[in-house]
Amino acid sequence: MSWESLPESVKESIKERYEKDLKERRSSSNVIYHSELDGCIRKSYLRRKYPLVPDINAIMGLWRGNILHPAILKHFPRNEVPIKYPIAGTGVILSGRIDAIDKDGTVTELKTVSSIYHVQKRGFPNPWDRDRVLAYAYNWGARKARLIYVDLGGAITFEIPVDESEAEEVFEKRVRLAKLLHDCLVSETTPDPINCLELEDGGLECETFPCEYLVNGMCPGKMALKAQEEEEWDI
Ligand code: SF4
Repeated sequence: MSWESLPESVKESIKERYEKDLKERRSSSNVIYHSELDGCIRKSYLRRKYPLVPDINAIMGLWRGNILHPAILKHFPRNEVPIKYPIAGTGVILSGRIDAIDKDGTVTELKTVSSIYHVQKRGFPNPWDRDRVLAYAYNWGARKARLIYVDLGGAITFEIPVDESEAEEVFEKRVRLAKLLHDCLVSETTPDPINCLELEDGGLECETFPCEYLVNGMCPGKMALKAQEEEEWDI
């Protein structure tokens, strides 16, 4: 499937959403989002400083989310609950949005994926997703957490026990990462990669996530990316 084959109205709405997210992030370096801490901090830095035109996979992911999120979340008593945690003495706000809170107070995170097959086969949630929902549960003071993976054909749910000391540890780690990302954005210093394997030839193998900045097994320097900064949103 190609981007061109989508109806104009769909393309426009997806493009608007991308541009809005991008503008918000670029204009508020003191606000760090939990979603930016799921994985490589360098990638989150580059996405703010040198955004790339999204590929069809990213676009389709957004489209899936736009369809499935409201359709599922409306069945919960509370949904899309913003949470903000001001990090003392820094002016930095760690920000996020709990997808849903159930009647019994269970903090619920919904992940729309292209296929739940791999999650089912693995049998446990992605560690970053687990960390995120634990951090939300800790911030909200919830005793229970839940992760739901959904695709266009089905869903798989994981109930996550909230151990308070583990949740606190996960949350504190996110606070440290948020401060690090903020400091790098302010000082315009590209952070070290996290979760990527340094190879002998100086390249990087990014194992945890597919990354749009990885080129031929290498993480390109920021100068190589600068040329793309002015690229038109001609998607
Ligand atoms: S290529 Fe790897 S190290 Fe570079 S930003 Fe992406 S995930 Fe991080």
